[in-house]
Amino acid sequence: MLAVERVDAPLGPKTAGLERAVGQRIEAVTRRGKFLLLPLRPASGPSPAPEGAEAGDELVVHLGMTGVLSPRPPAAHLRLRLRLDGAEPDVLYVQDARRFGRVLVVPKGDYRTLPTLAAMGPEPLDEAFTVAAFAAALARSAQPVKAFLLSQRPVAGVGNIYADEALWRARVHPASPARALSRPRVRALHAAIREVLAAAVELQGTTLYDYRTVNGEVGAYLEKLDAYGHDGDPCPRCGTPLVRSVVGQRGTHHCPRCQRRARTRSVAASAGGRSAAGSAGARGRREPPTPGGLR
Ligand SMILES: [Zn+2]
Repeated sequence: MLAVERVDAPLGPKTAGLERAVGQRIEAVTRRGKFLLLPLRPASGPSPAPEGAEAGDELVVHLGMTGVLSPRPPAAHLRLRLRLDGAEPDVLYVQDARRFGRVLVVPKGDYRTLPTLAAMGPEPLDEAFTVAAFAAALARSAQPVKAFLLSQRPVAGVGNIYADEALWRARVHPASPARALSRPRVRALHAAIREVLAAAVELQGTTLYDYRTVNGEVGAYLEKLDAYGHDGDPCPRCGTPLVRSVVGQRGTHHCPRCQRRARTRSVAASAGGRSAAGSAGARGRREPPTPGGLR
């Protein structure tokens, strides 16, 4: 990378170490969850790093909610210009209206300043994301299941919109404690996450507000949303009006009929219900009733 120009990006943790990228080459473009990872190598250095040598630096990009990395100069909210040497395009523009994005350089694989990336779970479409691994992760958390999904720890890449969509498909209440989900709900949620993300990738995602894909297009998944943003609309499955709430400080949409809240054993017992059988600790046993109606 020939140069980094800070157009409107003050020095700070969101753009830390950027000047270290100057004079280095981008070796590859990879991804973990919603982080773009671009390993760097000094342009004049030896081709592959010698055995046992320092692994070098890595450019990490997270676009946040409104960030765009584009070869075309944006009309507004330009934060950084990344000048590339000999490549086509030779400039990448970082546009970010709301400034939630991050573009920084860290030692390769050293994510101490990026705790979400450091603790990130498996990729949702990878073989490593199994029902068993997902169940084990959920069993370790008393957080509302939606908040736990958003932490990226049980599985990578599930943001606010796709969390609502997957929970709706799996008939899981977003505020249910993660560890209270029954095995059938865990299995359903695992499948729903994969379905929703695969379909969203196919349709180039969901674009909100004035956000666009890298080619300036609107993501077509917006039209497919069943729950997100549909508060007050009838549930596509049972017709009950969907409700909006706040879970983990994020706007959340669910069907109060299809998505019943799972309870931990102690709560169910103190509420007068029969105590849950089995020795699974705080594993909830309540299953939401299967509503009649569509599907
Ligand atoms: Zn419903």
